[in-house]
Amino acid sequence: MSTLPPLREVIAAHGLTADKGFGQHFLLDLNLTAKIARLGGDLAGVKVLEVGPGPGGLTRALLDAGAKVTAVEMDARFIPALEEIAAAHPGRLTVIRGDALKTDAPALLGDGRKAVIANLPYNVGTPLYTGWLRAEPVWWDFMALMFQQEVAQRICAAPGSSAYGRLAVFTAARAHARLALKIPARAFTPPPRIDSAVVVVTPLKGDERYGDMTALETVTESAFGQRRKMLRSSLKAAAAKAGTSAEALLEQAGIAPTARAETVDPAGFIRLARAWRAAKTTVPSTR
Ligand code: SAM
Repeated sequence: MSTLPPLREVIAAHGLTADKGFGQHFLLDLNLTAKIARLGGDLAGVKVLEVGPGPGGLTRALLDAGAKVTAVEMDARFIPALEEIAAAHPGRLTVIRGDALKTDAPALLGDGRKAVIANLPYNVGTPLYTGWLRAEPVWWDFMALMFQQEVAQRICAAPGSSAYGRLAVFTAARAHARLALKIPARAFTPPPRIDSAVVVVTPLKGDERYGDMTALETVTESAFGQRRKMLRSSLKAAAAKAGTSAEALLEQAGIAPTARAETVDPAGFIRLARAWRAAKTTVPSTR
């Protein structure tokens, strides 16, 4: 444990008010940050990427749990407070001012066991997550990510539920995800309008992961873009891009033409993506 001043004192001393434009809602409860830090497992010796450390509440908990942290923060106002934390943990916290969407995380972290643990900014949480999810080779051993509760539910949703859609299919094609902890809005300063939740994600083994995300994106975009329609109708746009028909894709994938997107499990969408890729590959090269 370090001898840093309490977080609220640091926030007051540096005049760190929350900026809505940056999606800033701070977690100052030490019990909660300690719990989140450990949700994915033991952090001793793990290199952790933290996006959006803000004043550093979760950062402190990650360091206390034994992690070596690289923290990427876009808002320059937080850098001095974060540098104070770095000075109290020599060699264990690297602070980078920048946009996490533009950083090369595996290059920053280097060798060894790696994780992403973050209270993600709402406006860029989903693109950051899908970017890490689709990365090949997979460079992270696990992720523990806080989202708006509704996004967390969409990531972990099962077929047949209203939350089931592209995020659940992409996730299941690449990883295992569980909703590990719900956090009420009142736990944050200032409180957001909605509750949050932490999702813990672990990658599937290499031979179990589906790699053709372009094909999967194409069929799911078409299917869920018109989720109430039968797939023989909603898949027309994707089928046209591969010079085939929706019916042919569905037959190849062993899915009823009258099925609707939300009843097809991730394995079914992967079969559809394979059928789409096969059809696309046989289209004459002028297309
Ligand atoms: N981790 C802190 C906590 O839990 O108290 C703050 C979390 S707050 C929800 C999100 C943080 O992400 C803010 O500090 C914000 O400035 C930062 N942020 C927003 N967009 C970012 C981006 N594109 N790259 C890096 N940080 C970003």
